[in-house]
Amino acid sequence: AARPAGDDADAAVARLTAAAGAVSDALLARAGGASGTAAEVLTVTAGMATDPTLARDAERRVREEGATPERAVWDAADALAAQLETLGPPLSERARDVRDVRDRIVAELTGVRPPGVPTPGHPFVLVAEDLAPADTATLDPGQVRAVVTAGGGPTSHTAILARSLGIPAVVAVAGALDLADGDTVLVDGTGGVVERDPDAATVAALADAGPRGRRALEAPGRTADGVRVDLLANVADADAAKAAVEAGAEGVGLFRTEFCFLGRAAEPSVEEQVAAYRPVLAAFGGRKVVVRTLDAGADKPLPFVTAASEPNPALGVRGLRTAARHPEVLDRQLEAIAQAAAAEQAEVWVMAPMVATADEAERFVAACARHGLERAGVMVEVPAAALRSRWVFEHATFGSLGTNDLTQYAMAADRELGDLAVLSTGWQPAVLELVRATCDGAAERGRPVGVCGEAAGDPVLAPVLVGLGVTSLSMAPRALGDVGAVLAATSSDACRELARAALAAPDAEAARDAVRERLRPVLAEIGL
Ligand code: PEP
Ligand code: MG
Repeated sequence: AARPAGDDADAAVARLTAAAGAVSDALLARAGGASGTAAEVLTVTAGMATDPTLARDAERRVREEGATPERAVWDAADALAAQLETLGPPLSERARDVRDVRDRIVAELTGVRPPGVPTPGHPFVLVAEDLAPADTATLDPGQVRAVVTAGGGPTSHTAILARSLGIPAVVAVAGALDLADGDTVLVDGTGGVVERDPDAATVAALADAGPRGRRALEAPGRTADGVRVDLLANVADADAAKAAVEAGAEGVGLFRTEFCFLGRAAEPSVEEQVAAYRPVLAAFGGRKVVVRTLDAGADKPLPFVTAASEPNPALGVRGLRTAARHPEVLDRQLEAIAQAAAAEQAEVWVMAPMVATADEAERFVAACARHGLERAGVMVEVPAAALRSRWVFEHATFGSLGTNDLTQYAMAADRELGDLAVLSTGWQPAVLELVRATCDGAAERGRPVGVCGEAAGDPVLAPVLVGLGVTSLSMAPRALGDVGAVLAATSSDACRELARAALAAPDAEAARDAVRERLRPVLAEIGL
């Protein structure tokens, strides 16, 4: 945009300098209140806001090109970031900081709130349109009491990450954005309730009920008649792995490796990957850890493998599909996993996300074999793979049902969209049919199948999944106790009967009601 008439170049440059200074001061003030790495990062970012190269180029764009201050700093920062990106790590990592200060300076110039999660300096309820996984992953549970979003489905990564951090979260809340700074809100993550200015009686009733879903897992997972069901945890890093061990997880059913590198412009080196994976394996001693190769794409873009824009990212080049264009990235990751496995005791299984065909499974298993990784399997989260599972499992040595994506693709309902939350549930009989098809095909080949989507952590749905033929369930650690308790009170025959009842139901709600009704005595006994 051209500079508005009357706003001469000197005044425009002065506004720009003042905005950059204000951003720098605000970041330094935050650095003063932080410690360790956070303080260091904030100080470096503050310096970036007043970086002379950036300032000179922005000023030149104002004076020579007649750009507005906003346009000038935007373009100057983009040019600097692009230049840094060509230099490779560690300098290329600074590109993100440059874009971050760019956004802050533009926000200051236009008088809007700076981007990112606010830091008011006291505990608060975070209300947002939606959050990026990278923002959610870095939330401080000590400060963020609860999360409320207008967007996002129950299986969006925002909801998954908040759950794993133990932060109560309610997504897809109509009217969330009508909440204002300073309002008192009650957030019940378990019940999905958000209430402005709750009365004292409501608060007291909830406080009396106490926290739910916090039962620890007491014994290895098994049905009432003693059939083993591995109860595993979904983790994204070493801290989550430690929490999973404390919650009694028998191993890891899904290690989402892409979460180790969200927001990174450049591919992490093999050494860096080994350093990220080893502590997760170490936490589990000799037990099973299923490592998933990078599931980049859609809401988890990784610039070093995913395209900057696609018309339909959820249907795009994501997951294993990125390996067609970047086979060397998959190769280096498998090398890193193999090195980490060799250095630790854990029994390492490896699986690929977004596998659609038997051919893809065959190629992935072959790639794993080249690195000595013999336990190689696939996520089953594309309906095609579920329907053709007997061919997929000719190659894959195990399967893990990603019910979040499987539901999204079966129902044609974007899991990030709050408006479609009613469709986005593993209770959909169509999804349960796909689970059954997957288990039937795998059984023909003698391959085990687990579930690692959010459905596995629903204590009412879990016995249905077992009844359909699933032999392990992987979930957020805090769900383990309830799921274990329901299974321990339900025989494998009863699980199969629950599965038949759910499949016979006309829709998701009827399926849930039918199963709840049959499980009523068990749920009452456990207090669910
Ligand atoms: C899934 O799709 O169910 C799954 C477990 O993977 P993610 O949630 O990471 O897509
Ligand atoms: Mg998935």
